[in-house]
Amino acid sequence: MRQAVLNLEESKIREVANAGMGRDDVLPFWFGESDEVTPDAIRQAAIAALQAGETFYSHNLGLPALREAVAAYTSALHGPVGAERIGITSGGVNALIVAMQTLIDAGDDVVAVTPVWPNLTAQPRILGAHLRCVPLRPDAQGAWQLDLPALLAAITPQTKLLIVNSPSNPTGWTLTRAEQTAILAHCRQTGTWILADEVYERLYYKDDTANGAAPSFLDVAELDDRLVVVQSFSKAFLMTGWRLGYLIMPPTMTQEVGKLIEFNTSCAPVFAQRGALAALAQTADITPPIVAHLRQCRDTLVPLLQTVPGVETSAAPGGMYAFLRVAGFGDSLELAKRLVTEAGLGLAPGVAFAPEAEGWLRWCFASKDVGRLGVGVERLWGWLA
Ligand code: PLP
Repeated sequence: MRQAVLNLEESKIREVANAGMGRDDVLPFWFGESDEVTPDAIRQAAIAALQAGETFYSHNLGLPALREAVAAYTSALHGPVGAERIGITSGGVNALIVAMQTLIDAGDDVVAVTPVWPNLTAQPRILGAHLRCVPLRPDAQGAWQLDLPALLAAITPQTKLLIVNSPSNPTGWTLTRAEQTAILAHCRQTGTWILADEVYERLYYKDDTANGAAPSFLDVAELDDRLVVVQSFSKAFLMTGWRLGYLIMPPTMTQEVGKLIEFNTSCAPVFAQRGALAALAQTADITPPIVAHLRQCRDTLVPLLQTVPGVETSAAPGGMYAFLRVAGFGDSLELAKRLVTEAGLGLAPGVAFAPEAEGWLRWCFASKDVGRLGVGVERLWGWLA
C-alpha cells in the first residue's frame, strides 16, 4: 500500500461521532449539514427523472442542460461565466479531488490556509505534494484573522497551488475583496494556481456585497487567470446526500477534468443532476429562506455561548459553524468525547482542522429546531459547572 495513504489519520470528527451516533440522548452538531430535508421541488424532480427512466450515464462533465444552468446561475452572481468552464462532479469532495489530480504532481509545493476542513489538506498529501500551511490566528474576541503578508511570503514561484476555503469551515473566517485582489495579483506574479473552495458562499451574513454572497475570487479574476472554484449543491440547497458539486475553471482545464472524471466516477448520478436543475430553476425561492434560517441559528447560538463562563467565541461572517474555545481545556478531542458521553452534546474537535485549532470546538448551527441550540448550550453550561 502507498505510504501516503498509510500516513493518513482517521477523521477525528468521526471518532467523536462514533462515540455518540445512534444514541437518542445526544444532540449531534458534529457534522456540517442541516437536519432539514431537501426542499420538495428538488426531490420531486429527481423522482420524476427516475420515473421517466433516466437511469443511464451522462456526459463526463454533466448534463449539458445542467452545465448551462450552473453557468447562468454563476453569471447572475459573479458576471459572465460560460458553460465551457463548468464541470459537474459527485459532490464538492469529488470536485476537490479531480481539481487537485489535474493540477498537482508528486513533489509539488502546495500552500493551504488553515484551520480548514481536513479534505483540503489530505488530498495534496495523498498526491505526494509538499504541503505548507499558513495559519489564521484568533484575535482577542475569538474572530480568526489572516496574516496576509505571511501568506504572500509563503507563495513563491515554486508554489504550484494555493488552497483557500472562504467562508471557512470551521472558523467562518471570510476573505475580503481587498485580500482576494492582493492574493490574485501575487499569484499572477508567481504563476501559482488558486483553488478556491467557495461552497459556503451563499451562507454569508454581512450584507456588504451587492449579490448577498460572500466575496468570490470570480468577482476579481480574469478568464485567463489560473483560478479554479469549487462549488457544491450541499449547503445552499440542503442536498448533502445527493453528492453533487461542480468546478468553475479556465476552458482549457475543463477538457482535462472531463478526462479525469471518466476515470474517477464517469459522471455524477443523473437523477441527482435533474434535482439540481430544479434547485437552480427555483433558487430565488429556495435559497433565501435557508440562509435567513441559518442567520437566525447563528444569531441565537453565538450570544448564548458568549454568556457561558469560560467560553470564547464570536459571530462569524459566513458558513454554518460557531467555533469556540473553552478555557482550561487543551485537548479538544478528549473534551469533545467527554461532552458526548457525559453531557449528550456532539461537537467536532478543533484539532481535526489544524494543530493551531487545538483547544477549540466546532458547533454546526444548521438546526431545523432553533430551540435545540439553546438546549445544547444548557448542556455545555451544566457540564462545565
Ligand atoms: N468544502 C468544504 C469546505 C466543506 O465543508 C465541504 C463539506 O462539508 C465540502 C467542500 C464538500 O461538500 P460536498 O461534498 O457535500 O459537496
